[in-house]
Amino acid sequence: MYKIGQQVVAIKNHSQLKFKKGDVFTIIGKHQCMCGLLKLNFAELGLPGVSMCNSCRFVSVKGGFLARSFAPIDSIQVSESFSDSLIKDLEEELNVEELITK
Ligand SMILES: [Zn+2]
Repeated sequence: MYKIGQQVVAIKNHSQLKFKKGDVFTIIGKHQCMCGLLKLNFAELGLPGVSMCNSCRFVSVKGGFLARSFAPIDSIQVSESFSDSLIKDLEEELNVEELITK
């Protein structure tokens, strides 16, 4: 799901505001915590050093940010172009209706 070099966008604010919703990051590392949660490291934020998992309190030198705070940009672009095409379809339908009533 997440690949090194992939771009992701934050979908919520970090508890200590290290990132904000809408910020874009490039994945440079990922690992799974003891508790099973996926953590990501980003080029823009650097390596976090020693940090504690918010979920299981396991202290690790890998650190990282919870993957579920982010969404891959690719999927968001896809859904945006999808809704664009929906709007276009609606507009076309409206145009047809106008023609009929005239
Ligand atoms: Zn954990």
